[in-house]
Amino acid sequence: MLYISTRGGSEKKRSAEVIKQGLASDGGLFVPETIPSLSKEEIATLSKAPYPERAAQILSKFLTDYSYEELLTAANAAYSKSRFGPYAAPVKSLNEKQKILELWHGPTCAFKDMALQIMPRLLSLALDKTGEKRDALILVATSGDTGKAALEGYKDVNRTKITVFYPEDGVSEAQKLQMASQEGKNVNVCAIRGNFDDAQTGVKKIFSDRRKAQKLDSMGYFLSSANSINWGRLAPQIVYYVSAYCDLLAEGTLREGEEIDVSVPTGNFGNIFAAYTAKKMGLPIRKLICASNKNNILTDFINTGVYDRNRPFYTTISPSMDILISSNLERLLYLIQGPKKTAECMKKLSETGRYEVSEEVRDTILRDFEAYFSTEEETIDEIKTTFEKYDYLIDTHTAVALRGADKAASDKITVIASTASPYKFAPSVLFAISGEKFDGDDFIGVQKLLSQRSGVPIPEPLASLEGKTRRFTGSIGSSPEEMWAEVEKFVR
Ligand SMILES: *Cc1c(COP(=O)(O)O)cnc(C)c1O
Repeated sequence: MLYISTRGGSEKKRSAEVIKQGLASDGGLFVPETIPSLSKEEIATLSKAPYPERAAQILSKFLTDYSYEELLTAANAAYSKSRFGPYAAPVKSLNEKQKILELWHGPTCAFKDMALQIMPRLLSLALDKTGEKRDALILVATSGDTGKAALEGYKDVNRTKITVFYPEDGVSEAQKLQMASQEGKNVNVCAIRGNFDDAQTGVKKIFSDRRKAQKLDSMGYFLSSANSINWGRLAPQIVYYVSAYCDLLAEGTLREGEEIDVSVPTGNFGNIFAAYTAKKMGLPIRKLICASNKNNILTDFINTGVYDRNRPFYTTISPSMDILISSNLERLLYLIQGPKKTAECMKKLSETGRYEVSEEVRDTILRDFEAYFSTEEETIDEIKTTFEKYDYLIDTHTAVALRGADKAASDKITVIASTASPYKFAPSVLFAISGEKFDGDDFIGVQKLLSQRSGVPIPEPLASLEGKTRRFTGSIGSSPEEMWAEVEKFVR
């Protein structure tokens, strides 16, 4: 299978090259030329298999230049018990119709682990497959969770090194400690005395500087990113939708071929695009519910066909969805309206911040998607009522998805993607269930209090932060040159 750009450039690449390269040369995103199919018989067979086998089977349809054995080895290592506990992506039953797909049993307690645990292994294999002599150097600018998930994913993976930059005063204490205490021989973490934009700008400057690339080249490295638009991050996300269906089939909740709805708390549109891909492969999904917070740009787009980022940006209690540019939406646009119109839309977006699709395109989208958003009050209320009614604790992002599913009022079994442990957003969750406000930096204290109030144990990766020693201390200035000096020092 070959991959092409959403913007119609002429390059066609194998999956290993796509994972190595990230973005297509014309600025578009890579998509498979055709979407492979998944038969009823395969679903039935997979429903008897453990998670890593499901992953290897689904991935082998997309990553055709990897052998099944390579993919199974990678999946077994990525989704091992030591990293994810007994089951990587369990489905919990809330009530007869609503089933929660828990995607946060990985090392950082959020769903990005599902992709970031396996993607570095796929990249490492890609270097051998493409005859690459240099090793990959990953640079990440983070405002919080992605940095830690990437560090855990790349930790001690062959032929890779990673440096994460974060704004010294722009992440929470818990996130700081998580990153500063990171283990692994090939990792580096660096605080900068600036904000997230400075960190992002510095990393972008390094990426676009030819001379720096040559310098790294002479030291045996090339730059690569852990960005969510990389197909290597998207493909592993398809797996858990198939897996959830398999589990519900195996336990007898679903009949063979029965349709489900899926609700996804959406920011960059990666997770829900993976669910859409599963549907296009043949997984019996009727509707995809795109759930947003107060930054409801996608709700508007899906319902009206107008994408307009000229609007206020809100900081919410579900921060991983505080986004005004949903990069992966480009992949959906491509599949529905082709490369030419998609390239036009993206051009308009960068020039004016707005584009509009035809009525026909909007109606096509509405055949597969429904879109809702939740206010902050609704999100808090959803956490509270879910806890009171079902004795089940959810985080703020999951609450947005569950409220979306409530609003859709579907008569189908609905799978709700739960993207973070409630303990990742403990102050908001504590407030929702008990009305207590917890201010300040004592993240261990707030987790303990939440555990007392809810009776739900703190997940091990968060509990074990208590008393961890900081390995990366100190900070640097926020100029690109200082950041580059840090990178050079690290690769030496
Ligand atoms: C990243 C993230 C999301 C949004 O997922 P997208 O793929 O960007 O749409 C939702 N919830 C949590 C907890 C996240 O970390």
